[in-house]
Amino acid sequence: MTSDYHRRLPYGERMSAAPFAGDPMFPFEGDVEVVPLAGPVLPEPARGGEGGADCWSCAEPDRDVIWRDEQWKLKARKPSGLPFVAILEPREHYRLDNLPPELTATLGPAIQRVAKAIQDLDPVARTHFNRWGDGSEHFHLWFLARPLGMMQLRGAMIALWDEMLPAVPADEFTANVNQVAAALAQGGGEAVSRWRE
Ligand SMILES: [Zn+2]
Repeated sequence: MTSDYHRRLPYGERMSAAPFAGDPMFPFEGDVEVVPLAGPVLPEPARGGEGGADCWSCAEPDRDVIWRDEQWKLKARKPSGLPFVAILEPREHYRLDNLPPELTATLGPAIQRVAKAIQDLDPVARTHFNRWGDGSEHFHLWFLARPLGMMQLRGAMIALWDEMLPAVPADEFTANVNQVAAALAQGGGEAVSRWRE
């Protein structure tokens, strides 16, 4: 085992969900059973695009792209339960830890611009953004639009609500895509019209 932390964990046991019971942001009620804690998988399985090989983002660099400039691109995949979900990626294949200075310098402004463009959509109160990075090595940030007044959707559970709520109609999603892309293009870069439903 790799560390004291790992040695302490109760593998095979079910943790209690009690700390979340009654929390206004916890989206489940009743008897919730937590899955047994699985042991670590070492070495970890390779992520998509590990080492720059077989990266699905690099293989189809234009797929789902709705806006891009010389460094960054924003993708919107398909309608889902939230008003808008998007992914910001560098156009070249980098991880966070080897992102070159010219990209780290523009990452903050890019986050701010994308968050503002999404927040300006009519049903949106706030734009959440997250970096997980367990699926693909190609650095990417998730942006999730939190609908106005929907206080159960605050915080990390918003990602679950995105799967559970009814999907936004395709024409409304397309309108949101066009608005976000146009807003970003006003500050530089180009809106991409070849976005596919
Ligand atoms: Zn890549």
